[in-house]
Amino acid sequence: MRISGKTAVITGGAKGIGATAARIFCEQGAQVAIIDFDEQAGEALAQQLHAEGFDAAFFKADVSNETDVNHAALLINEQFGKVDILVNNAGITLDAMTLKMETSAFRHVLDVNVTGVFNCTKAFLPSMVEAGAGRIISTSSIAGTGGNVGQANYSASKAAVIGMTKTWAKEFGPKGITVNAVSPGFIETEMIKTIPEKVIAQIQQLIPYPRFGKPEDVANAYLFLASDEASFINGIVLEVDGGMLK
Ligand code: NAD
Repeated sequence: MRISGKTAVITGGAKGIGATAARIFCEQGAQVAIIDFDEQAGEALAQQLHAEGFDAAFFKADVSNETDVNHAALLINEQFGKVDILVNNAGITLDAMTLKMETSAFRHVLDVNVTGVFNCTKAFLPSMVEAGAGRIISTSSIAGTGGNVGQANYSASKAAVIGMTKTWAKEFGPKGITVNAVSPGFIETEMIKTIPEKVIAQIQQLIPYPRFGKPEDVANAYLFLASDEASFINGIVLEVDGGMLK
């Protein structure tokens, strides 16, 4: 029960890493608000967790839409009374080689992966500032530090997450709030299912630890940064990638 009594908001919590984090955070004693734009998957997960006796609820929002996010924040603050932990996990890819990448695809990925993190952080910060405590954990990627072929948009967005994290660590550390990022390598979720088998085999060669990551590998890193054990860790990028060579 490492985050017992805390209220955590997990964006992109309907599926993949976020859904695993929602379950692990519940099991560790937190009340969990799941934000996602996939209403069906989000409601189903919240109902399942509720049926198992956990305190979880779903709130529909597109993180790139400020009005949506502010509305969800209002409802979450009303229902739970406070938010102690924000996990900015929602993210998308729209891959293409740069010369074939539409500007709209470039902008869309930045809208979700960068503006989405900004919108959610801005929406949940005021109650943390008022409480003089809080944890913000955002999701970068090895693409943000090393770059990935065919992912100029995604790599730029995940580098931006690191920039925002380090800025907010300085801006909000003095208010008792820590801000950190997790940088996953290749994790077995829907996100990497579109990668051709040949490329998967090449990627495998670059991971010294002999397997792909699992959603719980990343969710447990979120949990650590949200726990009391990490109270003096601020502004870091925690790599969860099996030591992937970049
Ligand atoms: P996923 O596609 O399995 O799940 C993403 C979730 O975010 C989904 O539930 C989706 O509905 C939600 N979402 C997407 N856009 C949204 C929006 N605009 N508003 C609200 N919700 C939205 O992806 P995942 O693999 O679980 O990835 C989670 C995070 O980890 C992302 O930020 C991703 O970039 C990052 N990441 C993943 C990998 C990987 O290999 N899977 C590697 C590095 C980083």
